[in-house]
Amino acid sequence: MRAAILERFRQKPMIQVVPDPLCPPDGAVVEIGACGVCRSDHHAWSGADPDVRLPHVMGHEFAGTVAAVGAECQRFQVGQRVTAPFILGCGTCGECRRGEPTICDRQIVIGFTVWGAFAERLAISAADFNLVALPDSLPFAAAAAMGCRVTTAWRALTDRGRLQAGEWLAVHGCGGVGLSAILLGKALGARIIAIDVATDALAQAHALGAEATVDTTEIDDVGEAIRAATDGGVHLSIDALGIAQTFQNSLRSLRKLGRHVQIGMPVGSHAMVSLPLLELIYARQLSIVGLRGLGAPGFGALLGLVKAGRIDLTHLVTRRIGLEAVGDTLQRMDGRQPAGITVVDRFVA
Ligand SMILES: [Zn+2]
Ligand SMILES: [Zn+2]
Repeated sequence: MRAAILERFRQKPMIQVVPDPLCPPDGAVVEIGACGVCRSDHHAWSGADPDVRLPHVMGHEFAGTVAAVGAECQRFQVGQRVTAPFILGCGTCGECRRGEPTICDRQIVIGFTVWGAFAERLAISAADFNLVALPDSLPFAAAAAMGCRVTTAWRALTDRGRLQAGEWLAVHGCGGVGLSAILLGKALGARIIAIDVATDALAQAHALGAEATVDTTEIDDVGEAIRAATDGGVHLSIDALGIAQTFQNSLRSLRKLGRHVQIGMPVGSHAMVSLPLLELIYARQLSIVGLRGLGAPGFGALLGLVKAGRIDLTHLVTRRIGLEAVGDTLQRMDGRQPAGITVVDRFVA
């Protein structure tokens, strides 16, 4: 199969022909139809993710067709359209049985601890537990972001953020996961304020349902501006980027008893931040909640809204590229990137 092989950090992956993945007895092999290019692929590409060993294949938010199943796989057949979360649970430990594979001690992380989906085919372990069937109405390119950004945003708003209809939601960072949170937050009935440095990202945030936007290049005190625009502060705020500034802005945009959810992965110098413990956590009684992915058992509720036509994921995909363009796309993420989600959906030369 063709795969984009990363041989050195911060260099373009080379398209090479490598052996097809072997199908695990309890697993399946998926023919990749589409795979999103995510900010965490950029972390892997740049050497910032400690799990990545070279040579490596990135790509962790995919959708495709089952091409083979192992003897122990019972729920899926060849030809079925599927996706899977980027965190694969073992399927048998206590955490997995409780529906929380994101904290499984034996988890496999696609595109990080194992080779990923910037390739024609990918093996999925414990397929009965980890694979998720896709509705026929959902195109692969739109389904691809389910593996990471869309489902991460969903869990941030629901399970971790407990968003209620009518509440104010602030989204700090309007990249792929931030825009996903805006699309989903709108469907859940939130009033949304979007914050970014890029005017095209803010324009797309507005088009997806944000009723107010804040360009942080134009304002000194972002938290104060948001509290003024939202009658004392937002109820739920998410840091969808993961740098110290967006974390601080997010905390400062909250009203009393507000909830912050950390979606963006803080790397490098952003891994440690200072916390205004007295002013914000104690006096304003704020909550800070962490989050990393969504396990397969959590996909059903979101797919239900997609099937019912209440959420249209196709609005998130703004660029479709071939496998050979992955390197250029990752390199551009060093600076500002075009708004929306870029998806690889051509794998054959
Ligand atoms: Zn991701
Ligand atoms: Zn497990």
